[in-house]
Amino acid sequence: MRKGLLFVVSAPSGTGKTTLVEKLVQRVPDVVMSRSYTSRAARPSEINGVDYNFIDEKRFSSMVSAGQFLEWANVFGHRYGTAASDTDREQRQGRDVVLVIDVQGARQIRERAVDVITIFVLPPSFRELERRLRQRSGTNVTEMKLRQRLETAREEVAESTDYDYLVVNEDVDHCVSRLQSIVISERLKTAVVDAHVTDIVAAFRPSDS
Ligand code: 5GP
Repeated sequence: MRKGLLFVVSAPSGTGKTTLVEKLVQRVPDVVMSRSYTSRAARPSEINGVDYNFIDEKRFSSMVSAGQFLEWANVFGHRYGTAASDTDREQRQGRDVVLVIDVQGARQIRERAVDVITIFVLPPSFRELERRLRQRSGTNVTEMKLRQRLETAREEVAESTDYDYLVVNEDVDHCVSRLQSIVISERLKTAVVDAHVTDIVAAFRPSDS
C-alpha cells in the first residue's frame, strides 16, 4: 500500500478554506482532514473531537515539551497544533491528509524537510476579503480586531509564493475542483504511484530467459 500524502492548505481568515477542504474530502476518496489541537475555548457551534481537540494551556504545553506536534503556532492569541501521531497513522493507512493551518505552521513543516505539498488559497481580492470578514463577524468583532485580521492577511499573502500551488476562491465549486485536480495529479506522480501501477511497469521488463 502506498503511504498517504501530506497536504497543507493555508489562507487568510475569511477565505473559506475549511469549507473548501470539507468539500474536497467529500469528493475525493481516501483524503482526510486533520483535526488540530487548540488551547482556545470552543465556540457555541463547535464540538470537541469534531472541529478541534480542545485542550487547556497546561496540556498544550506538555504536548509541546514531549515533541508531540508536527507543527504548532500561536494564531490570534491562541495556540493551535497538529499531532504527528495523527498524521502518521492516516498516512500509514494509505490516506492522504490535509492540514488546514496557518503560514507559520506551513513554514515549520517545510523547514523540517517533511514531504509535503503546500497550497495557498487566495480570496478574490483584498476588498472582497474585507467584505466577507465584516459580514461574517456581524457586530461581535470590533473594528480593531477586523483591522488586525486584515493586517495578518497582508502578511500571509506575502508568503503565498512560497507555496507549491496557488488557488483563488472566486467560486467554491470551481475552487474545490482545482484542489481535487492537485490531489489527483500528486497521486499520479511516478514516485508515489501504488503497487498496481508498479506491477504493470514490472510486467513489461524483458525476462532473463
Ligand atoms: P479558528 O480559531 O478561526 O478556527 O482558526 C484560526 C486560525 O488557526 C486559522 O488560520 C487556522 O488555519 C489556524 N489553525 C487551525 N489549526 C491549526 C494548526 O493545527 N496549526 C496551525 N499552525 N494553525 C492552525
